[in-house]
Amino acid sequence: MSQRAEVRVTVIEELPVADLAVVNGRLVTPDGVRRGGLTVQGGKIAELVPHDERRPANKVIDAAGCYILPGLIDSHVHFRTPGLTHKEDWAHGSRAAAAGGITTVIDMPNTVPPLFDPADADAKAAGIAGTSVVDFCFHLGVDGARPELLATCTPRQAVSAKVFMAGHHTAPHVIREPDVLDRVFATAAKAELRLALHAEDDAVHELLDGWSGPPREYRDYEPRRPRTGSIVAVARVIELVRRHGTAAHVLHVSSAEEVDLLSAAAHAGLPVTFEVTPHHLSFTDKDTSRLGARTRLSPSIRNEADQRRLWDAVRSGGVTTIGSDHAPHTRAEKSRPVADAPPGLPGVQELLPAIFTGMRRRFPEDPPDLHVSRVAELIAASPADLFGLAERKGRLKPGLDADLILLDPDAVWMVRAEDVLSKCGWSAYEGWTMTGRVELTVRRGEIIWDRANQAFGDPTGRWLDASLSSR
Ligand SMILES: [Zn+2]
Repeated sequence: MSQRAEVRVTVIEELPVADLAVVNGRLVTPDGVRRGGLTVQGGKIAELVPHDERRPANKVIDAAGCYILPGLIDSHVHFRTPGLTHKEDWAHGSRAAAAGGITTVIDMPNTVPPLFDPADADAKAAGIAGTSVVDFCFHLGVDGARPELLATCTPRQAVSAKVFMAGHHTAPHVIREPDVLDRVFATAAKAELRLALHAEDDAVHELLDGWSGPPREYRDYEPRRPRTGSIVAVARVIELVRRHGTAAHVLHVSSAEEVDLLSAAAHAGLPVTFEVTPHHLSFTDKDTSRLGARTRLSPSIRNEADQRRLWDAVRSGGVTTIGSDHAPHTRAEKSRPVADAPPGLPGVQELLPAIFTGMRRRFPEDPPDLHVSRVAELIAASPADLFGLAERKGRLKPGLDADLILLDPDAVWMVRAEDVLSKCGWSAYEGWTMTGRVELTVRRGEIIWDRANQAFGDPTGRWLDASLSSR
C-alpha cells in the first residue's frame, strides 16, 4: 500500500496589496537615513519598509540606491497669477517645481490684483485649479489701508500674511508708516496669524538715493541698496515682535548682521524665524557685476563673508527655511536700463540642486547623508511645521501624504537654458555644473515628474487646507 499524501491547506493571513512600493532606496526620515523603501496606499504613506523585506504592490519603483526624500515644500514662490501671467503661470511654474523635487508651493500675494482680502482666496484657487501639478496654498498680502482684514483670515485662506517694508516693481504696496506697521503686528498677533516679512527699510533706500542717486550700473547695485536697509528693518521687526508677541518669519535674509540679530532674538525666546534663498547662497556681489540684471535682487546679493555666514547658519542651525523666492521676469523686462530692470529671478527648479551642490562643495568632509537630512529639514519638515501643514506634509511618515522624491546624489549635470521650465525661459545658473539630480517626483502617490521619460503628471494639484492643527 502506498503511503497516502497528506494534503494540507494553510490559510495565510491575506497581505494587503499596496498601490505602490518604492524599493531599494535610502530613506531620509526624521530619525536618520537608512536603507529601505516604502509603500503607498490611497495617496498616503502606508509603511516604511526595511531593506531586506518586500511587500506586495500593484506597482513597484526601484529607487536603484537613490535617496528617498520627502517631497519638498517651497514656501516662497511668485507664480504671477493673476495679472502677470506673461512672466509665469501655474502650468509652467508647477512643472518647474516638480522637476526640482517640490511637491507643495506657497504662493506670494503680489499679483495684479493682489490677494489682500482673505475672501478672495477661493477665487484665486479656482483660477489655479486644473493647471498645477503640485499642491499649493497662499500667503495673504497686507494692505496698509486695511490692516483689519488680517483679523478675518483663516488658515484655510492663507498660511501667513506678507508685509513689504520696501517696494519695487511687483511690490507697490509698501508699509512705511510706523503706526500702520504697529497696527499690523498687533492685529496679526491677536489673530494668531504669522507675518512673513520683506524686511528692508524703504526710508533708508530713499535717503541714500537722495544723497548719492540710485544705482546706475550693476556693480553699484549692492553699495546703493546696502545691508543698512535690511539691518534697520530687521531691528524694527524684532522690536515689534517684542511689543506684540507676533510670530514673524523674515524672508530672504542676505547679511551676516541679520543672521546674528535674528539668531539672538530667537535665543532670547522671541517668536522669530528666518529664511535664506539659494541665490544669496550661490552668488556674490562680484557675480552681479558679471550677470547684471539676472542677479539684480531685492535684497541685493551681498559679499563672500555674508555668504559664508548664511551657509554656516544653513549647516549648523539658525536658518528655519530655505525658499526659492522664484520671481521670474521676461528677458525683455530684465534688459531694461539698470534703474528700471525689475528685481527677481526664477529659482523653483534650481532650489534643491543649488543647495545640495553648494553643500557638497563647501562641506566635502560631511557625508552626503547629512546634506540630504538638512535639505529634508529646511525645505520640507520645517516649512510644514511653520505653515500648518505638518499633519499632511513634510516628512516620510506613515499616514502622511505620499509626497516623495528620488535624488541621485552623484549625478553631475549642467544647467542649460533649453531645460528651464519656467515661462520666462532663462536661469541665472545657466552653465553651472550641478551635483545631485531629481530622478522622480511623486505627489500623493502619483508620479508628477519622471526625468528619464521627461514626463509630467496630470495637473491635479490641490489647494491645501492648513487649518488642521500643526505639530
Ligand atoms: Zn519674494
